[in-house]
Amino acid sequence: MSKRDYYEVLGVSRNASEDEIKKAYRKLARKYHPDVNRENKDEAEEKFKEVSEAYEVLSDASKKAQYDQFGHAAFDPAQGGGSNGYGFGGGGYGGFGGGFDVGDIFESFFGGGARGGRRPGPERGDDLRYDLKISFEEAAFGVEKEIEINRDEQCDACHGTGAEPGTHVDTCPDCHGTGQVQVAQQTILGRMMSVRPCPRCGATGKIIKTPCKKCGGKGHQRKRKKLTVKIPAGVDEGSRLRVAGEGQAGERGGPSGDLYVYLFVKEHPLFERDGNDVLCEVPISIVQATLGADIEVPTLDGRLTFRVPEGTQPGTVFRLRDKGIPSLRGGGRGDQLVRVKVVVPKKLSDKQKDLLKTFAHETGENINPEEKGFLKKVKNLFGV
Ligand SMILES: [Zn+2]
Ligand SMILES: [Zn+2]
Repeated sequence: MSKRDYYEVLGVSRNASEDEIKKAYRKLARKYHPDVNRENKDEAEEKFKEVSEAYEVLSDASKKAQYDQFGHAAFDPAQGGGSNGYGFGGGGYGGFGGGFDVGDIFESFFGGGARGGRRPGPERGDDLRYDLKISFEEAAFGVEKEIEINRDEQCDACHGTGAEPGTHVDTCPDCHGTGQVQVAQQTILGRMMSVRPCPRCGATGKIIKTPCKKCGGKGHQRKRKKLTVKIPAGVDEGSRLRVAGEGQAGERGGPSGDLYVYLFVKEHPLFERDGNDVLCEVPISIVQATLGADIEVPTLDGRLTFRVPEGTQPGTVFRLRDKGIPSLRGGGRGDQLVRVKVVVPKKLSDKQKDLLKTFAHETGENINPEEKGFLKKVKNLFGV
């Protein structure tokens, strides 16, 4: 099988910068990640491996230099085809950051290198992510939510060993249970010994002669699980909850990963949030603003009557103490800020108009400026 050129795999030119290589890799890794390609998982996995391998070399200055000079021959030709394809050294997948946004659950990507450098012995399961939308009020006061996740759980038939019940797991004779073998390697620097994952046992250190029928020897099964998540009062958009031990099952008896619930808060038709304060706008009439009035204000605790004083100006903000959002860390609530919007009436009856004219007359206001030569003054000002 001929191997594709690493630059071609990543779709970058030979003189691409480190940054360009990284970007190209991230894009492709996202595209081909097996967990977002459920339909053609196998094909995606192949691509993903290919891309990862190309990046492993091209992102490493010395490996890149070797590759540029000798092509694939710079590396052990035995590497291709082996089931351990992409043997990233310690935690190869780190550094992705949280930039992913794929569907509801984004699986298997958090553990950082869990699938990379395989070691024998127990391994902690990957963390899971679940995106959850909650209402403004739920964020304010907390809520319990039932969610459903797909995850790998320890196989209940073989209890995670991968061996059919009644049979046993043997120590791998090639690596004597260490999961690693030493290989002599011809490099440009001469013959070198290097440590490789054991191909016979897939770096597990164990040989299973009769794989468990229920899980196919993997030791875990995909299951749909319902969980109740307790969301505390005061959470906000972007808050993240950790549910310990509810991630993917560990490998070979290792502990499970954690589940991270990312919270997204729906917009509220009346309220806006500023830290722990709640902002809202309340319309009042000219008459209410002028004479003062008791108005109804919506709050998180229901409707509340509030006294707007005489002569309230448009845009005035009133503060209702402790009517905001409870602090996530305890210690009281924020305030509600009520901004008054004075509404100027658009349709008036003749009688209403007359009353307003009388009002104007009473205050000595001339409501028809033309009479006082207002327009004339404007004309003089602009010379038209
Ligand atoms: Zn099993
Ligand atoms: Zn072995």
